[in-house]
Amino acid sequence: MYDPIELTKKTEDIVVKGDLKKYYRFRATGFYGGIATADTVGCNLRCKFCWSGNSVWNSRNTGEFYRPEDIADNLKRIAIKKGFHQMRISGGEPTIGKTHLIKILNNIQPNFLFILETNGILLGKQKSYVKELSKFKNLHVRVCFKGNNSNEFSFLTGAKNGFEYQKKAIENLKNENVRFNIALVTLNKNSQIFINELDNLNLDHTNIEMEEIILYPKVRKRLEKEKIINYFE
Ligand code: SF4
Repeated sequence: MYDPIELTKKTEDIVVKGDLKKYYRFRATGFYGGIATADTVGCNLRCKFCWSGNSVWNSRNTGEFYRPEDIADNLKRIAIKKGFHQMRISGGEPTIGKTHLIKILNNIQPNFLFILETNGILLGKQKSYVKELSKFKNLHVRVCFKGNNSNEFSFLTGAKNGFEYQKKAIENLKNENVRFNIALVTLNKNSQIFINELDNLNLDHTNIEMEEIILYPKVRKRLEKEKIINYFE
């Protein structure tokens, strides 16, 4: 089992160089009704159901380094071409490389909504990171919980800890008045367990979205290798 914070540092050494960060693809997708997407490299979790491949599991040999200004320009170019008003970073964990991410946000015009899809580990670990993000009024954070408690988090990610950071991320976002919603991956369809876990945060429970795991061939293969495919079928 690994520590997500230690894995963050190791990953950062590979995918971040000063202001630059690795990406492997730019595309228009139909999520959220249409969104410009930049796919980054590197993550601080290893979710067994993850659809990403080399961008997470082989970050050293994947992607190229880009300046934050180039990422903002690429997102803007795609959005304008497609008539989208939304942008995001996918493929890996966008909060790795704080300076890079903040500079991207600084280069995105406020008429575009930036949806920050994150596992929330670093937003829970660093309150100051959330404070910096709070100045961007065109930001919406989507925190994806991996499991409805710490046991399930470890089962799904192979990490020895991290669920508490995810919870703390929500507390920090609330305290800094950053717009957010929660996505939840769980094998237990009784969402009350999760609601109880977050009870002291006084959340609006309508804001919790159940994330469905799509069994792409590479996801299926990994789950079979882990001998846990039966939990997902
Ligand atoms: S946090 Fe997201 S990108 Fe990272 S391993 Fe999990 S599902 Fe994949």
